[in-house]
Amino acid sequence: MPDSNLPEATRHAIHHAVQSALREALVSSAPRTGIGYDVHRFAPGRKLILGGIEIPAEQGLLGHSDADSATHAIIDAMLGAAALGDIGQMFPDSDPALEGISSLKMLRQTRERIEEQGYVVSSVDVVIVAEKPRLAPHVAAMKAALGRVLGLIPSRVSVKATTHEGLGSFGRGEGIAAMACATLVPTVHRAFEDADEETVDDAEETLP
Ligand code: MG
Repeated sequence: MPDSNLPEATRHAIHHAVQSALREALVSSAPRTGIGYDVHRFAPGRKLILGGIEIPAEQGLLGHSDADSATHAIIDAMLGAAALGDIGQMFPDSDPALEGISSLKMLRQTRERIEEQGYVVSSVDVVIVAEKPRLAPHVAAMKAALGRVLGLIPSRVSVKATTHEGLGSFGRGEGIAAMACATLVPTVHRAFEDADEETVDDAEETLP
């Protein structure tokens, strides 16, 4: 506690500053999580690319890129964890340079963006909702492909597949959805860097 001979207002200010610094040090060194969700509909004459690999199927998914909904969900989860916006902002589908782009390339660029911000991906988890084709035989290859780009061993990349039990548009096999979570850990000591960017003084804040 500050010297008790100091005026009360000064002691209060010092106490508050120390509390704020401790909280900032704790928060800025904590892991961050994000979620992502993506959907693409089936279309004839397209390859089915999921989790970074080509899967034998009668048709593939429609999209500006290779329409890999599993990888897109992971990208959105990573961007969400770092509060860097969303996949549509980073890779606009109005950009002709992105037409037909491999989603693994987009994933690599997302990893680079995250690492520039002082974070590294420590794990990802994705659930793919597909009535068909059966994805279980391809899970190991998807984990390996995603892990190679993310710099993660397969035990830190989770890929799960489920059906929609015949319900609704996914149950009718009209498209494939994917949901993902990503966890980032800070690679640099961020305390006070983040705090300088924006001061949050909750002691002064007046709530309605
Ligand atoms: Mg997408």
